[in-house]
Amino acid sequence: MIASSNMQKNILLKRNRLKENFYTIKLMMKPFGLGYKIIDMCPNFCMLYYDEDANLIKCKTYGRARYKPNTSRGRALVAYKRLRYFPPTFRLQRLFISIKTIEHMTWHHSHDAVDRVMVYLFGS
Ligand SMILES: [Zn+2]
Repeated sequence: MIASSNMQKNILLKRNRLKENFYTIKLMMKPFGLGYKIIDMCPNFCMLYYDEDANLIKCKTYGRARYKPNTSRGRALVAYKRLRYFPPTFRLQRLFISIKTIEHMTWHHSHDAVDRVMVYLFGS
């Protein structure tokens, strides 16, 4: 991550506003509520350890282990595969709040449809 950050700084103009690292960006974005949930999943992609299956330690279908073997003491359990879920509700709400984007979000409602003519919002 550090190498890519340095590479980006070399590419961009000197008076750019790019934050120095990903952690700083993450802290800056936190108040906007655009986070994500991390959900463990089976390495075979057959199930999510979510809701009623959240506490299982083996896959219900193939019996594969959820966590990697623990090599050092006191270390937290590490799942083989993790899914990052970006809930769409807050993102959509933010699009409807903004004056700049509300016109685009309600375009389908205010636009008069003509039969047999396919139309779409430019840039959608
Ligand atoms: Zn599985």
